[in-house]
Amino acid sequence: MAITRAGKICSFCGEPGGPGTDLPLIGGLGAQVCARCVDDFHATLHDEQRLAAARGASPWDTMDEAELVATLPMILASAEQNTAFAREWVDLLRSRNVSWAQIGRALGVSRQAAWERFARKGDRTASA
Ligand SMILES: [Zn+2]
Repeated sequence: MAITRAGKICSFCGEPGGPGTDLPLIGGLGAQVCARCVDDFHATLHDEQRLAAARGASPWDTMDEAELVATLPMILASAEQNTAFAREWVDLLRSRNVSWAQIGRALGVSRQAAWERFARKGDRTASA
């Protein structure tokens, strides 16, 4: 299974993007950022007033309770996307014949613990 940005959301604004949409995503380590957020962050970083404001209060400090509640599903969607990306990454490692022992060592857990956390049904019989 290839790792793809299809069906992913921006980890910063929650908008769906990537292939099949008109919103490009760029990502790393599971987090995805859309072109609009990149433009907004770039503008903030190059505008002293916006940068000073960004260094001040966090966005959630000025949100009312309804906005805070409405944001919770997006936070969980982003977290679940990252967890799915970790699974895809392990699938990539396994497709390159990286052993469960190596994956476990990287995570600081036993081979068995890595296997129990990440093995897919088709890989459930592999113990290498
Ligand atoms: Zn975004």
